[in-house]
Amino acid sequence: MSTLTSVSGFPRIGGDRELKKAIEGYWKGKHGLDQVRATAKELRERHWRLQAEAGIDLIPSNDFSYYDQVLDTAILLNVIPQRYDRLAFENPEDTLFAMARGYQGPKGDVTALPMKKWFTTNYHYLVPEIDSATDIHLNGTKPFDEFEEAKALGIHTKPVLVGPYTFLKLARNAKAEPLELDKGLVNAVAAVYAEILTRFAALGATWVQFDEPYLVLDKEDGDVELFKTLYAKILPARTGGVKVLLNTYFGHIADVYETVSLLGFDGIGLDLIEGRDENLEAVGRYGVGESTTLFAGVINGRNIWRNDYAASLGLVDALRQVTPNVAVATACSLLHVPFSTAGEDGLGDEVLRHFAFAVEKLGELRAVADLSDADEEAKKASDLLRENQALFDGTRVEPDRAVADRLAALTDEDATRLPARAERQRLQREALHLPLLPTTTIGSFPQTAEVRAARARLRKGELSREDYDAFIRSQIDQVIAWQEQIGLDVLVHGEFERNDMVEYFGQRLNGFLFTRNAWVQSYGTRCVKPPIVWGDVSRREPITVAWSSYAQSRTNHVVKGMLTGPVTILNWSWPREDVSNELQTRQLALAIRDEVLDLERAGIRVIQIDEAALREKLPLRKSDWHKKYLDWAIPAFRLVHAAVQPTTQIHTHMCYSEFNDIIRDIDAMDADVISFEASRGDLVVLDAIHDAHFETETGPGVYDIHSPRIPSVDEIEERIDEILAKVDAGKLWINPDCGLKTRGNEETWPSLKNMVEATRIVRARL
Ligand code: GLN
Ligand code: ZN
Repeated sequence: MSTLTSVSGFPRIGGDRELKKAIEGYWKGKHGLDQVRATAKELRERHWRLQAEAGIDLIPSNDFSYYDQVLDTAILLNVIPQRYDRLAFENPEDTLFAMARGYQGPKGDVTALPMKKWFTTNYHYLVPEIDSATDIHLNGTKPFDEFEEAKALGIHTKPVLVGPYTFLKLARNAKAEPLELDKGLVNAVAAVYAEILTRFAALGATWVQFDEPYLVLDKEDGDVELFKTLYAKILPARTGGVKVLLNTYFGHIADVYETVSLLGFDGIGLDLIEGRDENLEAVGRYGVGESTTLFAGVINGRNIWRNDYAASLGLVDALRQVTPNVAVATACSLLHVPFSTAGEDGLGDEVLRHFAFAVEKLGELRAVADLSDADEEAKKASDLLRENQALFDGTRVEPDRAVADRLAALTDEDATRLPARAERQRLQREALHLPLLPTTTIGSFPQTAEVRAARARLRKGELSREDYDAFIRSQIDQVIAWQEQIGLDVLVHGEFERNDMVEYFGQRLNGFLFTRNAWVQSYGTRCVKPPIVWGDVSRREPITVAWSSYAQSRTNHVVKGMLTGPVTILNWSWPREDVSNELQTRQLALAIRDEVLDLERAGIRVIQIDEAALREKLPLRKSDWHKKYLDWAIPAFRLVHAAVQPTTQIHTHMCYSEFNDIIRDIDAMDADVISFEASRGDLVVLDAIHDAHFETETGPGVYDIHSPRIPSVDEIEERIDEILAKVDAGKLWINPDCGLKTRGNEETWPSLKNMVEATRIVRARL
């Protein structure tokens, strides 16, 4: 028997984002649901066939989703809050879309379920809502239908479901709090999963995969018991020889491996990319049940570099020391990588051969399995192995000596800003002549159709660079004038020249590459196209200086320069695998530091360095937070700004407020001011700020920019008062939640006007 290959999940949006286009077309009323269903069916067939042709043994089904697999699971368990059920749609897809994105129309008016980041990825899931009225039972037939759909095509699939433990840990009550997991709820969920297993057994399935990524997090009281209780009820439903694969990813399960291995799963999926050492150690220590197959997750589902076959074979071998029953698998779903390198010819063959997207990873998976079956002689003779090895031998890219020398010469002082913050804050208030409660925005102003059209015309060569620049300058003139008119204190240039806050910088740095079509699903039909870090990073030329100084030349007010920070640039790119993230971040930090100093030299006195993705990559286990991330990410940020004058004010921005648990680390970034999202949800972070004697001045967003509604003066005034109850007026800034680029001018300016007005009213009372 040759070694089994298993794919955890496959991208569903389509090589040309067909699903996105079909669904968005339906939302806009361009076509009916039939077309969406037909596109979905075609994509499923294409994706299954691709995997079958690549020789994959365990091909996933039910990994398809119109929007999100966690939402699908909620619906399957009938976890549908009544407000959506009450809309009484004829088609289940419409209920699903209402839960995912809200609904406003003849049937009613409901907001969407909340959305959160899926572990450390940039994928977002919808948070299931369970309350006392929830009646959990098997609802619908999606997983069974898709299994039979594949079967009719002659493809025997492995159904995949979000497991009950992860589902319950991610679900919230109606107040968005973690659930009280009473016996009734746990039993009801377990019963549905048991029923699902029984049904699949009857349909002739051989393997069913339950994804339990939540198992890689630190355990709270009761977690292990919960996991055991659930599966003790589910596993006996294995009838007719159906096998259960417990699949884990995004980290290791060393702390529960022993318990889990005693439960009698037929397969245990281990991530040997992100949880390698701990998982291997646990397997070595506790062994494996005789009838359990280990699924060695060796094909990276989170990055796009070619697999190192020799390394993967080493991992498979290590497991084979413990058990002969080893299958080869993707380390997590391939959902998080782009579809295929086909069509990326612009990169050139020499570059392209270093990358494997989802389709190419199928071939890698098969190759690793086949090589693991080959004897030493055959391996020696294998071209496949030799060619693969060549990718990793020698130098792929010439190191940049100058960058290495600069980094080597750095000392702690280079990342230490002087004088101390309190002193700087005093000097800055004087130098910048800012009033109490200074008002500002987060950087971008609406990217109107006109702005996007101008950029498209520049790209197509229909508009000259000069005309484009003149156009951008006219946009800057306009927003500067409008900001002055409504009376904002610290102005911005509007970021009209940027397509994206990461790609724009990447394109102006050495070391980056860009793809044409390498889209990855971020949420629903939204996709992102991260740039690739290919070599050592350095700044080629000043990036933003011309725009910021132009804006400053148009006004006597202070104009804030606008940069993306090193941690965020790296986290929203495909990082290199041949050097550490720490090193790449430090290189980026030096590049942005050059930009900061040039901005300062050009007369920019306030500089904002956005770190929107800093929290996203915080390791899943608390014990790793500092060692594996914050200990270098925070100093890298400091390196960016530490060399500026005391009177130059450094801002940073975060698109979320959940940093109360790392509050000291955020303060240790040593920025002078931080703005963050705070208009939705509670203000716990403000308590944390208070309790920690947070030194950084703060700008908690006073209104929600993700919504088109215009907040009234009263409403904002009330919000400011609420904030003032927790934050010292001398350290408070007034700003919206985030950048305004996705909004229209018609709602942006009235909202800002109300914000400034509300601030004036509050100021007068202080
Ligand atoms: N300066 C950026 C903007 O205003 C920040 C965006 C973000 O935080 N995601 O668009
Ligand atoms: Zn933001």
